[in-house]
Amino acid sequence: MKSDKHRPRSPSAQAGHAPRKRFGQNFLVDRGIIAAIVQAIDPRPQDTLVEIGPGLGALTEPLMQRLEHLHVVEIDRDLIARLKKLHSRERLTIHEGDALAFDFGSLGPRLRVAGNLPYNISTPLLFHLASFAEQIWDMHFMLQKEVVERMVAAPGDSAYGRLSVMLQYRFYLDWLIDVPPESFDPPPQVQSAVVRLMPKPAAELEARDPDCLSRVVSAAFSQRRKMLRNTLKPLFSDTELEQLGIPLTSRAEELPLSSFVALANLLAARQP
Ligand code: SAM
Repeated sequence: MKSDKHRPRSPSAQAGHAPRKRFGQNFLVDRGIIAAIVQAIDPRPQDTLVEIGPGLGALTEPLMQRLEHLHVVEIDRDLIARLKKLHSRERLTIHEGDALAFDFGSLGPRLRVAGNLPYNISTPLLFHLASFAEQIWDMHFMLQKEVVERMVAAPGDSAYGRLSVMLQYRFYLDWLIDVPPESFDPPPQVQSAVVRLMPKPAAELEARDPDCLSRVVSAAFSQRRKMLRNTLKPLFSDTELEQLGIPLTSRAEELPLSSFVALANLLAARQP
């Protein structure tokens, strides 16, 4: 058996950077997966593309080879310093700070977003990004496979929930690539997957007030095993549910997106 001395050093060791768990740092090292992600994104030279969490540059560098300019959002100061040394401002704009607080709208229309996301904040980050959907052209993300399962789940699936309904309302979702733990340094304890999100055209967005949709979906899934007539009691009467064709015994996990939209529109119609 080879001693540790002869093993190839990991990219984080080569860069002298100890991966930080609190920032979800699992760096991509599998060249085949990196190439497949870049191919799926298919960047064009003049695209406005922002990468969330460039880390040690596994995706950043191949993306920069195809783009005239790239934006990145990174929170780790050591990694930011490293990126600044390696790349000119003409080619790379570094937005220093928390992607959860970043104004993606500031980058203009037809924005493309990509990243191997820090798994510890991926769900709130997806909700944050959904609020900029009007300006987004597409998004490609590496996520924990369990999160992708929740995103694409259909009514009746155990993974169907608030994330499924809110993202499926706003985006077309494509599950693209499964990625095993060995593709990262250090390997995460979970399986991963790459997913594409493309905003739906305005004509397909039938909720009159997206905030009402969000209220209804949050209330319905607050206790997913309870009957909707109970979870939605503060918002709708039994008669209203029946008028919308929603059986009084049904639960949120069985309800299709169209019923959530119908409920949201009923709520919106009542507002002054
Ligand atoms: N893109 C690199 C790769 O594929 O090897 C790194 C991916 S690593 C899973 C997640 C990256 O997101 C790290 O660079 C980490 O520092 C950064 N990060 C973590 N939390 C962040 C946040 N709240 N805002 C911006 N970047 C963050």
